Amino acid sequence: MAQAERYAFVVENFDHHSSMNWRYQFFYYLDTKEIEMYDIKNKRTFLKRCPYDSIERDMLYIGAKIVVYSRQLTIVDFADTFTRNRLQKKTERTCAMIKPDAFLNAGKIVNAIVRSNLRINQLRMCKLTQQEAAQFYAVHSERPFYPKLVDFMSSGPILAIEIVGEDAIAKWRSLLGPTNSETARAERPDSIRAKFGTDNTMNAAHGSDSDETATTELDFFFGSGRVGQCANLSDCTLCIIKPSALVAGYQGLAIDQILQNFNVTAMELFRLDRANAGEFFEVYKGVVPEYNSMVDELISGDFIAIEISESGGNPVSALREFCGPADPEIARVLRPKSLRAQFGVNKVQNAIHCTDLPEDGELESNYFFNILIS
Ligand code: ATP
Ligand code: MG
Repeated sequence: MAQAERYAFVVENFDHHSSMNWRYQFFYYLDTKEIEMYDIKNKRTFLKRCPYDSIERDMLYIGAKIVVYSRQLTIVDFADTFTRNRLQKKTERTCAMIKPDAFLNAGKIVNAIVRSNLRINQLRMCKLTQQEAAQFYAVHSERPFYPKLVDFMSSGPILAIEIVGEDAIAKWRSLLGPTNSETARAERPDSIRAKFGTDNTMNAAHGSDSDETATTELDFFFGSGRVGQCANLSDCTLCIIKPSALVAGYQGLAIDQILQNFNVTAMELFRLDRANAGEFFEVYKGVVPEYNSMVDELISGDFIAIEISESGGNPVSALREFCGPADPEIARVLRPKSLRAQFGVNKVQNAIHCTDLPEDGELESNYFFNILIS
């Protein structure tokens, strides 16, 4: 007899009494809509195969939550190759670029990416020369709008982003909306080009149109060539949106507030190892009791470094003011609108690092935008 087709998943159930995550294999029989569960730890059947009409096959995907006899189960993995081959969607990479007309809205656009369950794997602010812009859009070199497009793309800063996720190319292009911003406003008023674009050429953002162009474009921005280098490295201060704030999904909101209030001259996503993070925080060693935890926090994941410039002023103290007291609990009382009050958790996971001493602004910016990248 042919075996009935069934999906197999690993599911987790959080038990509040024991504060433990219990793992089961969960089987779903496609023809009969029956389910079955197997207790992985105790190696025994947990729920005998039985009909369970309220679960449909399209409710079953990684990350989905299903309820079985009042237990909430989270699907965390596929449990066999049959299921994996049938259901695993293709993870894609795409190259997004926020164009000069929408650069000041980059934080809002980053927020839209994060909210759409797409992952930002790399991010770099650039200022393209005419030649670099011409190279990026070389496929359009015979089109009548090409000179205007090249002028526009080299007219101000842009933000290049590598987006990774299921169906990322189509998803991002759908978020963008139609090429012409006017058409976008008429047909897709919620789209990024409708909200932030200007016209046919100045249309807020770009997205790769295939796997092949994504590879070429990502290499253009994130390959070793480092096109469009833009950091000032003087009259500046450094701001870091820390890993825990990225995990919490606050990067877009934080970037937006920074862009609305400061002259941002460089921005890039980094990951550091312990040696580099220790070196960067060296001045706090033996001075601040949280030194080790600060290093642990910085190496725990991706973070975004931002250079802010102001000639003739005091960018270091202006940014410190804007970030608020180092301890978010205190910040929430004294400076509720400050970045740390809004996005920080505790003294270590306080969302933002900012340069402390006026003379360190240039040093810290040089550390990221000169030393580390060369
Ligand atoms: P992008 O490649 O920037 O993501 P797209 O794929 O929607 O946009 P393309 O046809 O590849 O559109 O055009 C590249 C860019 O050239 C457009 O984003 C826009 O800035 C500009 N452009 C395209 N068509 C026109 C046009 N008819 N007039 C003026 N500018 C145009
Ligand atoms: Mg295109």
